[in-house]
Amino acid sequence: MSYSIIDGKAISAQIKEECKQQVLAYKEKGIEICLAVIQVGADPASSVYVNNKKKACEFCGMKSLSYELPEETTEDELLALIHKLNDDPSVNGILVQLPLPKHIDEDLVIRTIDPKKDVDGFHTQSVGALCIGQPGFVSCTPAGIIQLLKRSGIEIAGKECVVIGRSNIVGKPMALLLLRENGTVTVCHSRTKDLKEVTKRADILIVAIGKPKFITSDYVKEGAVVIDVGIHRNENNKLCGDVDFDDVAEKTSAITPVPGGVGPMTIAMLMHNCVASYELQN
Ligand code: NAP
Repeated sequence: MSYSIIDGKAISAQIKEECKQQVLAYKEKGIEICLAVIQVGADPASSVYVNNKKKACEFCGMKSLSYELPEETTEDELLALIHKLNDDPSVNGILVQLPLPKHIDEDLVIRTIDPKKDVDGFHTQSVGALCIGQPGFVSCTPAGIIQLLKRSGIEIAGKECVVIGRSNIVGKPMALLLLRENGTVTVCHSRTKDLKEVTKRADILIVAIGKPKFITSDYVKEGAVVIDVGIHRNENNKLCGDVDFDDVAEKTSAITPVPGGVGPMTIAMLMHNCVASYELQN
C-alpha cells in the first residue's frame, strides 16, 4: 500500500511561524509575551530541552527568562521562585523542566504554578478543564498530535482511535483530546489483555508505550494512520520510536517518522500555549 509520511518538521515550522506573527502583532500593540523556564540541576538531556525552548522563544520573538538552579536547591526555594513568577504580571508562562531532583515533590511544584501560566498543561486544573471541555492549557505533545492529524487532512470524528499508554503527560490527555474531536477512543496499558486484538481495530493508532520498535505490522490494520510518540536512542546513537517503522509503514495510509514526526511538535505547541497564555490572562 502506498502511504504518506506525516511531516512533523514542516507542520511544527508552520505553527512556529504562526506564533511569530501573533507575537509580532502583540508587539505592535506594545505587549511582550514572556516565558520563564526553570531548571533544577544540570541533567544533560534537560539542558538540551531547555536550550531548545529558549531558541524557539527567540525564533518567535518572545522574551524568555532562564532560571538555572543548582541541584541542592530546596523545595521551599523553588516554590518561592514560582510564587514570585506567579505574581509578576510581565511573566505569561512558567515552565519547570522535569524531572526534578528526588528531594523535591514534583506534584506540589506543578500545583503551585498559577493555572493561568501553566503552559505545560500539567496542573490538575488544566487537566480537569480538558476533561470537562472548558478552556485551559493542553499538554503539548498530545495537542501537537491533534495538529499533525488535522493539518494532514486526517478526519478524527467517528474513527476508531486506539491510544497505547495512559501516562499523565501523553496517553490520558491524548485520549481526552481524541474524544473531544469525536473519535471513538480506547486506551490500552500494560494490563490490557490481547493488545493486538485491540490495536488491529484502530483507524488511528497512537503509540506511547516507551518501548523501542515494540509495534510491528501484526498490531496494525491495513490502511490505519499510525502516530509514534516514542523516542529512543539505539546502540549506534540513532533515534527510533515505539513503532518498527520499516515493518509497519507499508501497511499504513499515513505514519509519523522518528525523528521528524511527533518530536518537533511539542515545542511548537509550547510556543502556541505561550501566545494563548496572554489571552487567558487578559
Ligand atoms: P510512560 O509514562 O512510561 O508510559 C508508558 C505507558 O505504556 C504506560 O501507561 C504503560 O502502562 C504502557 N505500557 C507499557 N508496556 C506496555 C505493554 N506491554 N502493553 C501495553 N501498554 C504498555 O511513558 P510516556 O511518558 O507516556 O512516554 C511514552 C513514550 O513517548 C516514551 O518513549 C517517551 O520518551 C516518549 N515521549 C515523547 C515525547 C515527544 O515530544 N515526542 C513527549 C513525551 C514522551 P501502565 O500504565 O499499565 O504501566
